[in-house]
Amino acid sequence: MTTILFAAPALWAEYQTELPKALGEAGVAAEVVTDALPETVDYIVYAPSSPLQDFTPYNRTKAVLSLWAGVERIVGNATLTQPLCRMVDPGLTEGMVEWVVGHTLRHHLGMDRHIVNPGHVWDPTCPPLARERPVTVLGMGALGAACASALRALNFPVTGWSRTEKPGCLHGEAGLTEALQGAQIVVLLLPKTPETENLLNAERLALMPEGAVILNPGRGALIDDAALLAALDAGQIGQATLDVFRVEPLPAEHPYWIHPRVTVTPHIAADTRASTAARVIAENIRRGEAGEPFLHLVDRTRGY
Ligand code: NAP
Repeated sequence: MTTILFAAPALWAEYQTELPKALGEAGVAAEVVTDALPETVDYIVYAPSSPLQDFTPYNRTKAVLSLWAGVERIVGNATLTQPLCRMVDPGLTEGMVEWVVGHTLRHHLGMDRHIVNPGHVWDPTCPPLARERPVTVLGMGALGAACASALRALNFPVTGWSRTEKPGCLHGEAGLTEALQGAQIVVLLLPKTPETENLLNAERLALMPEGAVILNPGRGALIDDAALLAALDAGQIGQATLDVFRVEPLPAEHPYWIHPRVTVTPHIAADTRASTAARVIAENIRRGEAGEPFLHLVDRTRGY
């Protein structure tokens, strides 16, 4: 019998029915437990909030399966030598697409002007069409690519930027410059790695057209906060909608809370849903048991 240690106690209530159900549907005979002797554990289901930090005694464990897409809080754990898989889940992707499309349309249509209009100003200025509003998506992975195609379906001209060369996508420093210079709305869907930290710094913010909008559902550390605040104050950046922060919850005294050009959403862009994520976990365990390659393996050297 395969033993699965569910090492994310705060999420157990959501998964205690869904995970055994998904394992049954995948044809995996397994026992899911919340406590076990390390040497008996075949797979670990993990979240960054887990108390489990030392993986050394788990010498039989075939894989650690993260319930989170972003793995920056576990990828550098030197005791973790087992394969690490991250979460790529249809529910997560759909949630992110909805958040990104919703906030893109809000800024594109200038909805705030009409929703908050205490002076009852009759301003008949029409927004441009989506086809006239270039959007750049930084990070064209599972989430960025899905957001890009949803925005393209609405006629936004979308430029993507990624680390490696891929069709229809910019890459490298020159590609980043081009992607930022052309964008009225920039969406950040990069992982947090040493290479992406402070990627949007003062110099790169200055490349964007005046009044451009930033949407950050990626990670807080992708942006140099002081540089963004200065760019917002100067009007170089028109609006920022931020879902992720260096410190979460965002501290009460943080200037983002009261900045008139910033919208704070509390890391809710996309949630891992137990009903769909349990199937991803179960499929990876089925693969592990069948000797097939795992899905969504994290590359430790690149950090995502
Ligand atoms: P992913 O599939 O791993 O995609 C990451 C993308 O970023 C890839 O296109 C990758 O390029 C690119 N990239 C990585 N490092 C780069 C660099 N140095 N320069 C340029 N491009 C780089 O990840 P995902 O599933 O789309 O998730 C993206 C991030 O979203 C996660 O890491 C997490 O931080 C965040 N997230 C947030 C929420 C939320 O609720 N706010 C929810 C889920 C995830 P290649 O394609 O060339 O590899």
